[in-house]
Amino acid sequence: MGEWSEYFEDFPEENPGNWINGKFDPLGAKLQRQREAEFEQADKEANAELRQMIKDAKAKTKARSLLVTEACPQCGLETLNTYRISERFWLCECQDCGIYGKGTTHKQALQHTADALGEGLDWRDDGSLY
Ligand SMILES: [Zn+2]
Repeated sequence: MGEWSEYFEDFPEENPGNWINGKFDPLGAKLQRQREAEFEQADKEANAELRQMIKDAKAKTKARSLLVTEACPQCGLETLNTYRISERFWLCECQDCGIYGKGTTHKQALQHTADALGEGLDWRDDGSLY
């Protein structure tokens, strides 16, 4: 790699990175790479901003959808939150041990949570199902 960069310093016209549309233009090629890098950075920032907006919106929906906090089938603590995200999307997440489950009814979500007992699930590591 070092040898190549030294070689290209001595023979810049041999560096394919110095050509644009078949024309030797080291400055133009450099500016083009900078513009592309800036565009990629802006795109990354926009995506990060969008992801954060979605995350915030989901957090608000979750907070609004919290229906009940009850005893967790795994750890036994009164830390199992049940959310009714929509009419047929129920979600249980233990705030202590992390076990979770979802279903189309409250009963089914609780059942799926209980079925996962001992599987080592943690919605904080795995990512929330919502
Ligand atoms: Zn628990």
